[in-house]
Amino acid sequence: MPRPDDFFPREYFGWSASSPADYADPDAGLVVHYNGAATHLDSHSECVSYWKNTRDDHVYNRGWADTGYSFGVSVEGGIFEGRGLYRYQAAQGTTSGNANYYSVSLMIGEGERPTAAQIEGVRRLRQWLMSEHGVSGTVLGHRDFVSTSCPGSVLYALVERGAFEQPPGTSTSLSEGDEMLGLKVGDSGSRVTLLQQMLKYAGASLPEYGVDGDYGQETSDALLWVRKQMGSSATDGDTVTSYALAQLHAQVARHQAAKVAPESGDDGSTGPEDLVVNSVTANRVVARGLVVGES
Ligand SMILES: [Zn+2]
Repeated sequence: MPRPDDFFPREYFGWSASSPADYADPDAGLVVHYNGAATHLDSHSECVSYWKNTRDDHVYNRGWADTGYSFGVSVEGGIFEGRGLYRYQAAQGTTSGNANYYSVSLMIGEGERPTAAQIEGVRRLRQWLMSEHGVSGTVLGHRDFVSTSCPGSVLYALVERGAFEQPPGTSTSLSEGDEMLGLKVGDSGSRVTLLQQMLKYAGASLPEYGVDGDYGQETSDALLWVRKQMGSSATDGDTVTSYALAQLHAQVARHQAAKVAPESGDDGSTGPEDLVVNSVTANRVVARGLVVGES
C-alpha cells in the first residue's frame, strides 16, 4: 500500500521497523496533539532530532513501550512514523481513545502556528488512513478526550472549523489566521480566544476581561487599537475583516520583533499564553502578515 509523499518510516530514525506497542485497529479517526512548550523548530533536521528526543523521553523517562504518538508532522510537512499503523496509542489519555483513534503530533507548541505544509501533512496522513486503512475521516483534538491545553488554541480552532478534514491540495485559501476571519462582536469560543491571544501578542491590552473567549467591546477596542497602529482609518473593531486580520498579523510581527513587554494595563499574566518570542516566529508572521493597501 503506497505511503503518502514525504513519509519517514521508523527505520529512518534508527528504530525497529514495527513498534513493540500492543496491537490495535484504530478506525474512529485521528487526534491532533502539539508539544505544549514552544519548539522553535525550523527545519527537517531539527524536527528529526525532536522526534528522536520525544521517543527517548517517552521510553526512558516515562517507561512506555514506545513513543506515544502514532505519527508526527514536521514543520516542513513530513509525516514521521511513531508507533505507526495498527498500534495502541499512549497519547489520548483514555483507554478507548488510545485504542480507537490514531494520534498525530504537530511539532509546534504554545505561541507557535502550524505551517501550511504542516496542515497539508495532516490532510495527507488522514487521506491515506481513510483510503488505505479504513479509518474514519473524523479529526479531533486531545482536549476532546481529557482536560488539557493540548493541542493549543491555534490548532484546536483549526480542528473545530474542520480545516484538517479538507482533502489535500485545498489549502490555498487556508492562510493561517483564516480561522479568525469573520469573527464579530457577540461571538464566543476558541476562535475568539485565539483572536484575543493574537491581540495580546500584538501589544494590545484586554485590561478587564482578558482572554475570556467572548468578543465584546473590550476585544473590539483592542482590535481597533491594533488597526490604528498599522495606519488604518477603521472606526471600530467589531468585525475581523481580511484587512483587520492582515493588520493584526503585521502588528504582531512588529511588536514581537521589537521584543517589548506587554503594554501596561495588560492583565499581567505570564502563563503559557504569553508568546515566547523568537526570530523564526517573527519572520514567519512577517512573511504572512503583509498589509496591502487599504482605503
Ligand atoms: Zn496531546
